[in-house]
Amino acid sequence: MIGIERLATLEVPGPTVTALTAPFWEAAREHRLLIQRCTACERPIFYPRACCPYCWADSPDWIEATGEATLDSWSVVSRPGHPGWRDAVPYTVALVRLAEGPVMLSQILGDPRSLRADMPLRVVWVQCAGTILPFFEPASAGVGAGPNSPR
Ligand SMILES: [Zn+2]
Repeated sequence: MIGIERLATLEVPGPTVTALTAPFWEAAREHRLLIQRCTACERPIFYPRACCPYCWADSPDWIEATGEATLDSWSVVSRPGHPGWRDAVPYTVALVRLAEGPVMLSQILGDPRSLRADMPLRVVWVQCAGTILPFFEPASAGVGAGPNSPR
């Protein structure tokens, strides 16, 4: 496990930004977590899509999520799938259920031995290589109280 500041120095591939996902990544640079919401059935949607996966309406809108979540499941990675992550192991990849409902694949900061299913989490903005990524930490942790804390 490496410190949050060392993640910025990793040489890892960044996200593929498309016209569809650009609003998400632009907001992330401002430490704002955007998800979509269907303008027809009003259900929240993540990951970004052109059509609502529930009613197929083709005009999802963007809303700002609170950054609050709970932990659905997690796994500690010891052998990364890309060599750029070698210096970061072990790290914790998790399915995080946003307070708005959708599930997001992310990473959890801190000691994985302290993790419990359904525990409350909050978003922490992490500079990783050239990208600002939404990671999460236990809501009771103090890491997010620093410069990476949500607004
Ligand atoms: Zn819909």
